[in-house]
Amino acid sequence: MTIPRILVLGTGGTIAGAGSSATGAAYRPGDLALETLITHLDTLGLAADLVPQDVAKIGSQDIGWAEWQALHIACARALDDPAIDAIIITHGTDTAEETGFLLDLTLPTTKPVVLVGAMRPADAVGADGMRNFANAVKVASDAQATGRGVMLVMGDAVLSARDARKAATSAIDAFRSFPRGPLARVSPARLDWFGPPNRAGEAARYAFPAALPRVAILTAGAGMDEQPVEALLGIGAKGIVLAGMGQGNAPRVVIEALARAAASGVPVVRATRVDEGLVDRNVEVDDDALGLVAARALGPAKARVLLMVLVAGGVTDAASVQAAFDAG
Ligand code: ASP
Repeated sequence: MTIPRILVLGTGGTIAGAGSSATGAAYRPGDLALETLITHLDTLGLAADLVPQDVAKIGSQDIGWAEWQALHIACARALDDPAIDAIIITHGTDTAEETGFLLDLTLPTTKPVVLVGAMRPADAVGADGMRNFANAVKVASDAQATGRGVMLVMGDAVLSARDARKAATSAIDAFRSFPRGPLARVSPARLDWFGPPNRAGEAARYAFPAALPRVAILTAGAGMDEQPVEALLGIGAKGIVLAGMGQGNAPRVVIEALARAAASGVPVVRATRVDEGLVDRNVEVDDDALGLVAARALGPAKARVLLMVLVAGGVTDAASVQAAFDAG
């Protein structure tokens, strides 16, 4: 049996976090060296050759275009390198869904790319990082992991990065998957896929953006007026994602202001502040008449990532933006 060679890209996060006490709440994300994580993993006797490469050592709340670009370059290189079989990215959980989705949109599906995080710092009692990391190695080493797009391993679940979202601030079982359920269950001993790879041979859907356009998320609240929309246009927003109520709704004056923004060439996508569910076209808001776009299955954070990629690529008209969101 040949041992898979896996590039491990470290970015920081709680999986590499350390605190001053195993029972305290305070900790610093990204304090632990990637080498330390890998040395621990080696002691578990997993059959994989892990090649560490630090990209950053930060909490993922601070991740931005520079780290995303570095990750994209490292992944693209590894996908072209016949000596590398798969890629694991250790990542904070706060924005794992954004990084995962951005890479999913901009990389081909030729080798497994697996993000992994943890909810408890490495030195906390009951830490989940090593278990999750071992599970990620199990997934990345598997022949059937190719052709599924970027994945996220959290706990014993393997989720598609397109569908994963953080749904709890501190519970260990913090991630949910919508609209599709998990791709597989995994433990260090066993991996069960729930279906065959559905994206085999797919090229990158979009070019990696040369810069990130300013795309803002505006959360709707009862009784709000249109001034936040005007303020976003005032600071040069190139796109707006509404985290609306219910089916992507907002007070009438806000929807009218968003329609004016769309008419001025700033694409507007209606997502929902509700935890889960599709936002469809023309339900309570007349998207056809107002030039707005429905986010469909994407929540606000991921809708913003897709809209940034589209705007960076010069795609701003409502019909083309809607087609990209429909392709979900
Ligand atoms: N704030 C941390 C981060 O995203 C939380 C975590 O990793 O769980 O880096």
